[in-house]
Order: sequence, then C-alpha cells, then structure tokens
Amino acid sequence: NTTSATVLGLGAMGSALAGALLGTGRPVTVWNRSADKTKPLVARGAVAAESAAEAVAASELVLACLLDDASVREVLGTASLAGKTVVNLTNGTPRQARELAEWVSEQGGKFLDGGIMAVPPMIGQPGAFVFYSGPKDLFDTHRAAFDAFGGSNYVGEDPGLAALHDLALLSGMYGQFIGILQAYALIRSEGLSAVEFAPLLSGWLTAMGAFAEHAAKEIDSGDYTQGVVSNLGMQAAAFDNLPAAAADQGVSSELLAPLHQLLLRRAADGHGAENLTSVIELLKK
Ligand code: NDP
Repeated sequence: NTTSATVLGLGAMGSALAGALLGTGRPVTVWNRSADKTKPLVARGAVAAESAAEAVAASELVLACLLDDASVREVLGTASLAGKTVVNLTNGTPRQARELAEWVSEQGGKFLDGGIMAVPPMIGQPGAFVFYSGPKDLFDTHRAAFDAFGGSNYVGEDPGLAALHDLALLSGMYGQFIGILQAYALIRSEGLSAVEFAPLLSGWLTAMGAFAEHAAKEIDSGDYTQGVVSNLGMQAAAFDNLPAAAADQGVSSELLAPLHQLLLRRAADGHGAENLTSVIELLKK
C-alpha cells in the first residue's frame, strides 16, 4: 500500500513517525510550526507543506503528533477535515480523545486515537507498539501504515480507550520509577554504589513484576481473601520501617507516603487479613 500520509508535528516523535513511514516507501507530506524541522525529512524524500491546511489537503490519512490536546485543536482548526482520517498520536486523556473524535466527526472527518508506547529511537524497532482506538474498519484500512511504527494494538471502538491503556501503562511505569528512585536514595545515603546495586534491583523488580498477573485475577474477582501468604496487616506494619529507616538515613520518604497511608487505612478498616491487592478498593471513587 503506497497511499500517501501526512504528518503534522515534527518534534522528536513526529519526526520518528514520518521517518518510519518514509522507510516503508510511502509518500509523506510533513508540516511543522518551525519549518526548519522539515529539512531532514525532505532530504529523505518527504514533501514539506507551507501550512497545516495544505499538509492536511495532501493526504487522506493525517497523523498528528504535537505537544498536547490544545496544540492539536489549534493546528487541526486551520484545516478542512472533510473526508480525512485523522489519527491523533499526541499524548492525552480518554476524555480529550472522545471530545476530539466528536469534533473531527462534526467537521466531516473520521478519527482514531493512538497511544505510543516507545521513545522516538524505538519507532519501527522491535518492542515499540502503539495502542489505537476508534472505528475498527478505519484501523483495518490504515493498519499497513501504522505497522511501520512497531506493533499495532487495537483496543476498541471507544476513542478514549487508547489513551486509557497508554496512561495505565505509564501509571505502572511511574510507580516503578518511584521505587527505583527511593531504593537508590537509600543506597546512596551510605555512599554505596548505585551501579553495583543495580543488578540486584532490576532482578528484584523483574521477579516482583509477577505481581501484575497475580493481582489481576483478584482484582477482576473482587475477592482478596484467597491464598494469602503476606497479609495486608503484616505488610502495613513492615512498611512502617521504610519511612523510619529513610528518616534515620536522612532520606525523604514522600514518594512512599501515599501507599503507606492507604495500607494503614485499609488495615484499620478491618481488611488486615486480606491480600495487599485489596488496597485498590480505596482507589475507587
Ligand atoms: P517535542 O517537544 O519534541 O515536539 C513537540 C511538537 O509539538 C513540535 O513539533 C512543536 O512544534 C509542536 N507544537 C507544540 N505546540 C504547538 C502549537 N501550539 N502549534 C503547533 N505546533 C506545536 O515532543 P515529542 O515529539 O517528543 O512528543 C510529541 C507527542 O508525542 C507528545 O504528545 C508526547 O507526549 C508524545 N510521546 C512522546 C514520547 C517521547 O518519548 N518523546 C513517547 C510517547 C509519546 P515546534 O517544533 O514548532 O516547537
């Protein structure tokens, strides 16, 4: 399939996406607010449009990878979207994606939202993947283009679902970052080498990663009482040692405090004999 594609936004990610499309031999039109960023792509065969409106007019398939929802609205607002398929690969919330889908549809366009799970150098490489949501037939029609970026993971008709999946994975990632930063702060408080400690930490995190699969079954069933080997009450008591040790070592425990509070509350609410997973009940609003 060699139908043309337009890429709006040539930051680190948009440039990587446009480059991947060019790499599969697809004609690509590019536009960026600061025009100089089009040059490396033009050198590789892309056509630079003078304006976003002109770029949108050049292809039926229009990919936007801008800073945020506001910039997407601003840029798309200058163009005629009738008959276009707009694929928004800009990070945003499920609500923003749903509202954008409605707005694009009012302009006579079709819409898919995407969530990119990769950093720019990973685009087109093994391990990169993108979540897509919106009409399935639209995803199927353009899938060949999407596959240039890495794995294409369709998650449902509701346009908000790609962002939901993306932000859920990022939530997991930032949770890991919290633990990693706290662990190194403790290690460094004694002047020990983070580099020497790193294999222990990454091995431990890999082993504990099994918690994701394990917790999922309990979370779907809502039953946190099966096969309890490390009950919540015990963990809440042991967790006290983390901020206590941090304080003694001159390390802040502010990254850990929210989970500590939730564990204590759940134990005080009479759920101390359950699995730690039951803390999720306190996260439901
Ligand atoms: P950059 O900061 O490198 O690029 C931002 C882009 O947005 C530039 O093209 C910039 O134009 C443009 N832009 C910002 N504001 C406006 C505006 N008001 N009107 C027109 N254009 C505007 O960011 P990335 O390319 O890294 O990220 C782009 C999107 O991809 C973000 O939503 C990000 O969350 C997402 N993403 C990025 C990842 C990464 O690791 N980089 C990973 C996964 C997703 P100009 O050049 O003129 O400033």
